[in-house]
Amino acid sequence: MVDLVNTFVCGWPIEHSRSPIIHNYWIKRYGLRGKYEKLPVSPDDLTEFINCLPEGIYLGGNVTIPHKEKAYELIENLDPVAKKLGAVNTIWVSNQKIYGANTDGYGFLANLDQGVPDWDNENRKFQPVVILGAGGAARAIVDAAQSRGFSNIKIVNRTLSRAENLAIFFGEGVSAHCWEELPNLMEATGLIVNTTSLGMAGNHPLDIDLNILTKDCLVSDIVYVPLQTKFLQQAAERGLKTVDGLGMLLHQAVPGFEKWYGVKPEVSDELRALVISDLKETK
Ligand code: NAP
Repeated sequence: MVDLVNTFVCGWPIEHSRSPIIHNYWIKRYGLRGKYEKLPVSPDDLTEFINCLPEGIYLGGNVTIPHKEKAYELIENLDPVAKKLGAVNTIWVSNQKIYGANTDGYGFLANLDQGVPDWDNENRKFQPVVILGAGGAARAIVDAAQSRGFSNIKIVNRTLSRAENLAIFFGEGVSAHCWEELPNLMEATGLIVNTTSLGMAGNHPLDIDLNILTKDCLVSDIVYVPLQTKFLQQAAERGLKTVDGLGMLLHQAVPGFEKWYGVKPEVSDELRALVISDLKETK
């Protein structure tokens, strides 16, 4: 019988993925056997790749862009979040069956919990949350915010129809807005999150006037290349609390590692520094 110890991340392209740094660090840190590998799997090959996992050589792995939605279609046994969001980022094999989960929302919440422990206090729950963007990450984050009791969520997106689709999907308490409405929405918000790709290296920065925000507003960006986006810089200059996007990437990896290797790994300063040094090298 093959001794399964290895895991993977599959995507197309996959070269940019930092997941191997994270999981291989934990494998070493906890003295485990195994290797976490980067696998380039094209959209044409994904069905065969996933269907063959039960007979294959992996304990499980991660699925990244552009495969998260297709993986959802292919996997029968899904956790409630993946089922609801229609996207899978974590897979494991058990008794010849394939299981799928979505841990992006978990990563988002755990990052805020670590960075600002009281971030989801009752005062903030009464204030509207502003989510910039209406893509896959926004979907996971709206769901995560709702799961913590936030019931007034404003989705602001360049393409209004995408924000409207998300608002319909989540129903009561979630509304769609165009970019021009942002100043008004910002006046009352207690949490604003950038989930657009604006600010990412190679893209235009997210450049909005943050003077309208109140002094207690928490500002978060899920872009992590660069770590300190212009959006976060401007917020910090105003004295606002900020949380960068790297922690979400690190924390979303925790549930998968725990499933595969049976150890709940720690998101430590040492791991964070390791990934930051890799981001600097490859910038
Ligand atoms: P996506 O589904 O492609 O959505 C992209 C979003 O960005 C859409 O709302 C899009 O608006 C908006 N956008 C793109 N270019 C824009 C521009 N020039 N002006 C205004 N809006 C613009 O992508 P995603 O999967 O949600 O990911 C979004 C970002 O989050 C990426 O940078 C990704 O790297 C990051 N991310 C980080 C983590 C983490 O762990 N930290 C996890 C997931 C994603 P339209 O609808 O108008 O096109």
